[in-house]
Amino acid sequence: MAEAQSGWNLNRRRLLQGALAATALAAVPRAIRAMPNSIAPSAALQRLMDGNARYMRDQIDLKDFTAGRAARALAQYPIAAILGCADARVAPEFIFDRDPGELFVCRVAGNYMNVDILASLEYGVAVLGAPLVMVLGHTNCGAVKAVLQYEKDRKPLPGHLQMMLDAVSPGVAEAIRQGPADQLNHAIEANVRYNAQRLRQAHPVIAKAVEEKRVEVVSAIYELATGQVRLLQ
Ligand SMILES: [Zn+2]
Repeated sequence: MAEAQSGWNLNRRRLLQGALAATALAAVPRAIRAMPNSIAPSAALQRLMDGNARYMRDQIDLKDFTAGRAARALAQYPIAAILGCADARVAPEFIFDRDPGELFVCRVAGNYMNVDILASLEYGVAVLGAPLVMVLGHTNCGAVKAVLQYEKDRKPLPGHLQMMLDAVSPGVAEAIRQGPADQLNHAIEANVRYNAQRLRQAHPVIAKAVEEKRVEVVSAIYELATGQVRLLQ
C-alpha cells in the first residue's frame, strides 16, 4: 500500500513537473527555442531572393519531395507568409525555389487583404513563427486590370466578381487619380503597397510583431516576362 502510494506520488510529481516544463517552454520566446524558422526577417528575405535568382537562371535546387515528409507531417516552419495573387503563373514555391513547408501562402485574385486572409496570415506569424510577410503582386494582373476597366465603363461584372473589384479598388484609387500614363503598372504597385501597409497596421497580432521587429512586411512585384521578383521600397 505504502509502495503503491509512493508510486502514485511519484507519478503525480512527474506529471506536475511535465506540466511546469510545458508552461515554461510556452513562455520562452520562439527565437530562444531556435525553431528552424527562427531567423531574422532580413535572412528570410535573402533566402527568397536567392531562390528567385536561381529560378530566373533555371538553376533550381534539386528537390526530393519524399525526403523530410515524415518530419513535415509533424510540424511546419515557414520562413515567410505570402499574400499573393491567384494568377496561375505566379506560384510562390516555384518562383522562390522553396521546398514544401517553407512558405505559408495565401492567394486571392488581386492579392488584397480581407479578414479571412488576415486571420490566415496571423496564424502564419503568431502560431507558425514566420519572420517575414510579403505582399506579392505581378505585372499584367487581371484583377487590377478589371478595376481600371470598371472605372472607365462602369459595367458590372457577373456573379461575385464585383466583390473582387470592390476589394481591389481602394488599393488602386491613387493610381486612378494620377491618370492614364502607365496606369496599370502604377495601380499594381499601389495595390501591393496599400495592402502591405494595412498589414503593418493590423492590430493586434501583425502590427505588434512588426513593432517588436520580429516580423517585417515587404512589398514585391513578380515580373511575368522575366521571372524576376522586384522589391518595392
Ligand atoms: Zn493577378
